[in-house]
Amino acid sequence: MELPVTKYHPDPVATGSVEANPDKPCLCCNRKRGYVYMGPAYSEIFHYLSGCLCPWCVADGSAARQFRAEFTDTGTIEDIDDPRILDELANRTPGFNAWQQEQWLTCCGDAAAYLGRAGAAELDGEFAAAKPALAPLGKKYIAALKKEEEPTAYVFRCLHCGKYLAYADET
Ligand SMILES: [Zn+2]
Ligand SMILES: [Zn+2]
Repeated sequence: MELPVTKYHPDPVATGSVEANPDKPCLCCNRKRGYVYMGPAYSEIFHYLSGCLCPWCVADGSAARQFRAEFTDTGTIEDIDDPRILDELANRTPGFNAWQQEQWLTCCGDAAAYLGRAGAAELDGEFAAAKPALAPLGKKYIAALKKEEEPTAYVFRCLHCGKYLAYADET
């Protein structure tokens, strides 16, 4: 079965926010659909949603409705006025785990597509185009970045102008 299309998070399996898991039933649709959402889920009432929802119920908004959950905290996004964009990001897009509260980067008046975590190796490889965005952090800091250990960079790409965006954090 094809995974649902989420434009702001185009490949959540590659980023680790969705994992293959044949045994885990989804708390929302009660079906074992082969994949589980591993990213953050913010809900005042339900605190155990991460690892318990299928990506289909995330993408169609049913998990957000049923559990009054959001998958990304859009409260820190200041330069997007269109509530439809924030709604899609918070309620119908898989979020991602970061060391600190995650920041969804924006460009051209829209949320950007999240491409994944990067360390120095990835920034010299598949995400080389994102390196200029991190230049203000300095060469030494960039060289110390790691994909799985901190500090880590998070890479995005604008859906409109194609520019790569990135930021880095650590605990
Ligand atoms: Zn489900
Ligand atoms: Zn742009």
